[in-house]
Amino acid sequence: MLPLSKLASRAGRLALLAVALSPLFLFAASPVMNSKDSPKNPAPAACATDGPLSACGLPSKVVIDMSHRKVHHTDAEWRAILTPQQYSVMREQGTEPPFRNAYWDNHQDGVYVCAGCGTPLFDSRQKFDSGTGWPSFWQVIDPAFIEEQTDHSYGMTRVEVHCAVCGAHLGHVFDDGPDPTGLRYCINSASLKFIPRAEYDAWVKKTAAAAAAVAAKH
Ligand code: FE
Repeated sequence: MLPLSKLASRAGRLALLAVALSPLFLFAASPVMNSKDSPKNPAPAACATDGPLSACGLPSKVVIDMSHRKVHHTDAEWRAILTPQQYSVMREQGTEPPFRNAYWDNHQDGVYVCAGCGTPLFDSRQKFDSGTGWPSFWQVIDPAFIEEQTDHSYGMTRVEVHCAVCGAHLGHVFDDGPDPTGLRYCINSASLKFIPRAEYDAWVKKTAAAAAAVAAKH
């Protein structure tokens, strides 16, 4: 049986991707890394005053390459899996309204996973109040779980971010975030599902053990 420390390594996770299990199961073996307390009273983000017409509020126009995704569904399947708003944001690169979404003011302790495939993306310990009306984070749990594309639409240069596993549009990342990274991941609540810390930790423990058992057979 492989030790959990080996499973938790990136190589271990990538090896597990070859196993025909759900991505939620696969990535559960990855503990949340680099957890630090959120900074206090960060400066307002550049998008804070422009609302839906801000760089955060405008939809993206990039084309996301779906050819190498680990999770694939047909368009009809995505429409059945997701709510209409989730489909608009995640599969059509739309944007939800500021201050009228599930997590912009959520201060609970836990982990935010991709609403499309369950991959852990953001930790509440790296969430901060940007003043924009969208959930904002200064760090992603693991850069391997997110991909970026430069978006030149609307006469702006923005960096779009999407889930590396299912290709779901998440939002954008800007360089006006707080210390220690200086980054601001401006993310749509519609692209996320919040899991309270205790529930997430229990799930990680359970699925990591199951993943170890599967790996031991190969
Ligand atoms: Fe995803």
